[in-house]
Amino acid sequence: AHSGDVAVFVRIRPTANFAQDLIECLPDGQTVNIYHRRDSRKLQDSRKTRQGSWSFRLEGVLQDVSQEEVYSRVCQRVVQGALEGYNGTVMCFGQTGAGKTYTMTGSTESYKQRGIIPRALQEAFREVEKRAEHSFSVHLSYLEIYNETLVDLLSPLQGLPHLSSRGMVVTEEPGRGVYVRGLSLHPVHSEEEALNLLFEGEMNRIIGSHALNRNSSRSHCIFTLHIESHSWTVSDAKYVTSKLNLVDLAGSERLGKTGSEGQMLKEATYINKSLSFLEQAILALADRGRDHVPFRQSKLTHALKDSLGGNCNTVLVANIYGEAAQIDETLSTLRFANRMKCVRTDPAINEHMDP
Ligand code: ADP
Repeated sequence: AHSGDVAVFVRIRPTANFAQDLIECLPDGQTVNIYHRRDSRKLQDSRKTRQGSWSFRLEGVLQDVSQEEVYSRVCQRVVQGALEGYNGTVMCFGQTGAGKTYTMTGSTESYKQRGIIPRALQEAFREVEKRAEHSFSVHLSYLEIYNETLVDLLSPLQGLPHLSSRGMVVTEEPGRGVYVRGLSLHPVHSEEEALNLLFEGEMNRIIGSHALNRNSSRSHCIFTLHIESHSWTVSDAKYVTSKLNLVDLAGSERLGKTGSEGQMLKEATYINKSLSFLEQAILALADRGRDHVPFRQSKLTHALKDSLGGNCNTVLVANIYGEAAQIDETLSTLRFANRMKCVRTDPAINEHMDP
């Protein structure tokens, strides 16, 4: 892939029922073929004619790959860029249960199973220590978007974070770019401090979803490192800023028309809309002739406006099940991934001058 494209990976969740006859990962490590057949007895024939089959070529296919390798292939470059002053976004997309949270946050069961966020924090603070010629200031925020409502998962106010989210708004200012007014920013000086805030945010997400009877897989979560660095060696007042967004998107599955009602239907409607606006924004970014990109249609795209294409290193991980029963969702996730890889990015350092 070209360095300027959005890097799109697919990660296949390990399963005992891996559908070998339907999903084929080629040895090039970049191609996944899907054979879409309801009647699997006819599969051999359909393969020859390749009818009902799709081939997706992406930056990488991650199958039976450790958390460490996922981090180093998917995120390391983006973290390094963020410390140089380039915005970066890593997003996980896919149906509920396909491994988005496992990829982004990881499992608490063992240290080895830490996901992208804790590893990114570790690397970011190691680099801050190493780069003695710069002074860094790092802040954290953790935003949840549920049914177009903004929730501060690290609200400094006591009680349910959800009760303090009123008045938050995605906004834009010249010089500052896009930000969420009212979202708390927490200064962090070490990996430990940052990890504590990550856990606090995760807890608030769980507590909030229980208290308000929400399913936490039905919201988008954006964990952001806001980095500012001043160089000791440069005598003028130049400094650079960047944002590193680590995004766990809501489950992309379509609910059947029957059986979903009330709250579930409402959630599904909001998610479908925001993911489809995300896609529209992405398609508009991919279409270079288009100068208007509809970012403001949803809170998600508006909040990610400077983090999807343009001045940003962007990576998408499409998480899929490897099971035959999920093949429709797998296909729709891979199609989304395929469209995403057409987006060009053009990262540039965000340089400012002290007034
Ligand atoms: P999602 O966030 O997409 O809804 P999760 O990340 O919660 O899905 O994954 C569902 C379950 O599968 C969790 O128990 C998770 O630990 C497990 N899981 C997902 N991906 C992997 C993987 N690559 N290796 C081991 N376990 C995984």
